[in-house]
Amino acid sequence: MKLAFPAAPPVSLPIRGSNERFPVHRIYCVGRNYNDHVKEMGGVVGRDPPFFFMKPADALVADGRFPYPFKSLDVHHEIECVVALGPGAAIFGHAVGLDMTRRDLQAEAKKLARPWETAKGFDASAPVSEIVPSTEHLARGAISLDVNGSRRQTGDISDMIWSIPEIVAALASYFELRAGDVIFTGTPSGVGPVQRGDRLHGVIAGLGVLDVEVV
Ligand code: MN
Repeated sequence: MKLAFPAAPPVSLPIRGSNERFPVHRIYCVGRNYNDHVKEMGGVVGRDPPFFFMKPADALVADGRFPYPFKSLDVHHEIECVVALGPGAAIFGHAVGLDMTRRDLQAEAKKLARPWETAKGFDASAPVSEIVPSTEHLARGAISLDVNGSRRQTGDISDMIWSIPEIVAALASYFELRAGDVIFTGTPSGVGPVQRGDRLHGVIAGLGVLDVEVV
């Protein structure tokens, strides 16, 4: 097969303790998966079925730099646990991720019943740490985000409305999950704006950290 022009380079993520990299297929994201975040966004607390959106695979950035995007004056951090799937859609590992969001564009999209791509799927909208290999799903662990040394978001993986196995099962009812898929599993409360020069420090206790500078 001869390509008309060079293909975009494949997206991959570092794996802790390995010289190999994790080849990314798709990025799925879960909305509203912690009740305290549902409340802060003005939603109704409950256990409605999970809903999903996507980001393009090349929105992942693992170099610790988040370029402030165009066309928004209100870009928010959402610290999240990220699940990486391997062959057979089995758990391959986890990572610390940020579901960066143009909140002003998302609010407008919600109001007009329009899609979320410009709010959620923009370039570099998915900063992520190395993947920590594990065959068991993560069920608990404190998750937090500091901005310039001040605590902004706190929660615990055990607070998720839909657990990781439940999210994987629900997603699999809509999509054929493949090795290389990564899933952002939702954010606890405390989301808020970032500015150029901010330093974001995300932690999932017992798993890992993610350090990102807004540039
Ligand atoms: Mn999110």
